Amino acid sequence: MIFHRLAQQLAELERRGLRRSRLVRQSPQGPRIVVDGKEVLAFCSNDYLGLANHPRIVQAAIEAASRYGVGEGASHLLSGHSAVHERLEAKLAEFVQMPRALLFSTGYQANLGAVTALAGPEDAIFSDALNHASLIDGVRLSRARVVRYPHADLGSLSGALAESDARTKLIVTDGVFSMDGDIAPLPAVLDLCERHDAWLLVDDAHGFGVIGPEGRGTPAHFDLRSPRVVYVGTLGKAAGVAGAFVSGAAEMVETVLQRARTYIYTTAAPAMLAAAVEASLELIREDEWRRERLRKLIAVLRGEMREGERGLAPSDTPIQPLVLGASSEAVRASAALRERGILVPAIRPPTVPEGTARLRISLSAAHSEQEVLRLAAALHEVCRSGVATQA
Ligand SMILES: *Cc1c(COP(=O)(O)O)cnc(C)c1O
Repeated sequence: MIFHRLAQQLAELERRGLRRSRLVRQSPQGPRIVVDGKEVLAFCSNDYLGLANHPRIVQAAIEAASRYGVGEGASHLLSGHSAVHERLEAKLAEFVQMPRALLFSTGYQANLGAVTALAGPEDAIFSDALNHASLIDGVRLSRARVVRYPHADLGSLSGALAESDARTKLIVTDGVFSMDGDIAPLPAVLDLCERHDAWLLVDDAHGFGVIGPEGRGTPAHFDLRSPRVVYVGTLGKAAGVAGAFVSGAAEMVETVLQRARTYIYTTAAPAMLAAAVEASLELIREDEWRRERLRKLIAVLRGEMREGERGLAPSDTPIQPLVLGASSEAVRASAALRERGILVPAIRPPTVPEGTARLRISLSAAHSEQEVLRLAAALHEVCRSGVATQA
């Protein structure tokens, strides 16, 4: 019976167009990847700066592996970590202009750790409705009271903060929203934090390296500096490697180190990854042309496509969603693009709200203008044949 139930549930996912599958890639990450032995033009990775296969970063990883080996053996607190980890934390803190940074093995763990370390059952968390799953899970694990405010709705957030008498108040928001590409109204949110004595956790998985001067992230984009900001950057997207960090006021970071179970009870990421991130950080800083190229490609794509209803959602970031509505429509459009040798993922509930399934186009500095034009032409074809306009 138990097997039968699983089979039924899987069949139900299939029927609703929600069953997911994995592609198997035979090449490095990049704008052109080899899938099932065939080269395709890909707009599905978060390797925004095109660093995932950069020779300088690969070399840094190889050298660190030769020097430190490949395994850390235990958690940071149990057997310590390498000199590279220690140095990288200082460099990351300096880069995002925060007093201190703490490395995590993944962004998922960083969010879970930071949220649960800063808020508990006597506290209240105010969470944007479109936040990433890792923040939502952190909020659940914390057992704090939760107020989920409508996306970027400052009026609702302000009202909820005014009503709350919680001991500690924590606002959590994506910096750049992962499935919409829009940027959180951080200056106004920080204003509310000041007025209501709250922390502001910014999950900048899609902003770090991409947004702001030198890619210092969404708070830097707005020139925000406040000891209330808890900045989470992830290192597997624009940075092209893996991992994440939590940064901010020294006592806050020390609290996360002491309390976050996703920090304490997990093996440290290998030194070679820290060394790779160190090399990546230099390129993020130096190669302004990568961000310029991205801005150019965003303009090229948006110039070719309709905006608003049945067009691209408003977004100035490399995340360019085309909302189609029904899951089956998104899946069909994605498959039609695939037949044309182009890979754009269909994003379905529960990743996005019901009725807003979409193609999530993500651009990279490694794409050429011609490749983006080819994508736009294919999107028009797919729409004309009725695939995308039936939404
Ligand atoms: C990808 C992502 C994460 C998780 O980061 P990983 O390092 O991939 O675990 C967290 N928040 C957002 C908004 C993300 O898009």
